Amino acid sequence: MKRKLSNQFLRNFLVIFLLTMLDTVLAFVFLSFASGLIAGSLAKNQYPASAIIKEDYNQIDASAVVQNGGGVQVVDKEYRVVYSRGLDTIGKDKLTIEEFTAFLTDSKSKSYHYDILYHPKGEFWLIVTFPTSIRLDFSLVYNKEAAAGDFMQACLVIAFVVLIYLLILALFAFTYSRITAASITIPLQKLCDGTRLLREGDYSVRVDLRLKNEFAELQNTFNDMAARIEHEISLRKKSEEDRRRLILDISHDLKNPMSSIQGYAELLMKKGMTEQECDEHLKIILNNSKRANRLLTELFELSQLDSPEFSLKLLETDICEYIRQICGDFVPQLEREGFKYEFNIPEDSVFALLDTDRFNRIIQNLANNVMRYNPEGTMVTVSLTVQNHQVLIDFSDDGIGIPDHLANNIFKPFVRVDDSRNSKTGGSGLGLFIAKRIAEAHGGDLILLPNKNRGSTFRITIPAI
Ligand code: ADP
Repeated sequence: MKRKLSNQFLRNFLVIFLLTMLDTVLAFVFLSFASGLIAGSLAKNQYPASAIIKEDYNQIDASAVVQNGGGVQVVDKEYRVVYSRGLDTIGKDKLTIEEFTAFLTDSKSKSYHYDILYHPKGEFWLIVTFPTSIRLDFSLVYNKEAAAGDFMQACLVIAFVVLIYLLILALFAFTYSRITAASITIPLQKLCDGTRLLREGDYSVRVDLRLKNEFAELQNTFNDMAARIEHEISLRKKSEEDRRRLILDISHDLKNPMSSIQGYAELLMKKGMTEQECDEHLKIILNNSKRANRLLTELFELSQLDSPEFSLKLLETDICEYIRQICGDFVPQLEREGFKYEFNIPEDSVFALLDTDRFNRIIQNLANNVMRYNPEGTMVTVSLTVQNHQVLIDFSDDGIGIPDHLANNIFKPFVRVDDSRNSKTGGSGLGLFIAKRIAEAHGGDLILLPNKNRGSTFRITIPAI
């Protein structure tokens, strides 16, 4: 690809090179045309020496020449300047023969135009001087009478100069084409390398072109894309890992009650067991089947929350009234189990969009956890406040609390503080995970507030309307 682009640039610059040559030739043609065009209008050509010369130089009228910024001098055969009007570039009254010869031969290269005419009868030279506006001394002259050697030599020199000119032009064109091509092919190559690495699975690849043009935009887009892919891949890896762990945990948690059910059912089938033993075995079977059933129900609930068809049936609800009612429903159970309680729910009406069936699940999980994991006499407090259009429902207890090292993970599935205690209480470690997902689906959240003294405080937030 690199070579193809470079060659393309070289071809383009070859065309430019040919066009430049053509333009150079045209420039000379135009210049000679322009010089012919302006020649007629120049003052020096309007007042040539031949037009004003008189046999008696004293009668020469130099006024028009002087008016146009020029000058007229007459040099006699003794090389004395005998007549002078206007511009005088000789600057002397008398010249030596050498000085006059030098003046005649140098007159072409000066920044003045001289028209010199000899009057044979009057025996004087008439010199008409005009300042040169612009001099362009390029003219191609060919005289057949010139010596053949001279012609060949001149042709060789001209050919050599033209060749050098073309070589320099070609060198410039070639160098420029390479530099221009490189400014495209190098960043392109770097981007290609990056893309290849990305395709090969190196998602950490980033391109740094150190440019500020369109390639920089492409580089930023590429880097952005690579960062996103890297993020997505790491998310996917994590979710695969989570899923793998979930399946492992589920099978582990189901295995215990199922094998216990199987074992005790086999025992029951044996003859010779007292009625009391039978009852105890049946109780164990019942408890284990309840545990398995609860785990399956929670898993079913979780898969419902995960399913794309899942949606909440949101209704505008007075959340104070609603929480007050739920708390009231819990009172008999709290009293029965020996828990103290306090509810701080304002009398006002605060509205929020709730799917009350699902939202019940959050409160139920939190309340069950308080009663399941804390000893009798634990104080349960439910308070509701509104802050910045957010309803905050704090569910706290002064019980055993949750160890700091688990505080960040307590909402992850199957995380439990004490596995052995949980197998007794039948906890699966899914309750808080489900509750948090439901709160999030409501546009809110469920968090564990940092432990101040003892016990734990869970905070549900939900947007007020
Ligand atoms: P589980 O089904 O095991 O109750 P949860 O996700 O509801 O699962 O709770 C996770 C763990 O957090 C529980 O196993 C328990 O150890 C701990 N926990 C939850 N709430 C409380 C609480 N109010 N006091 C003490 N520990 C709690």
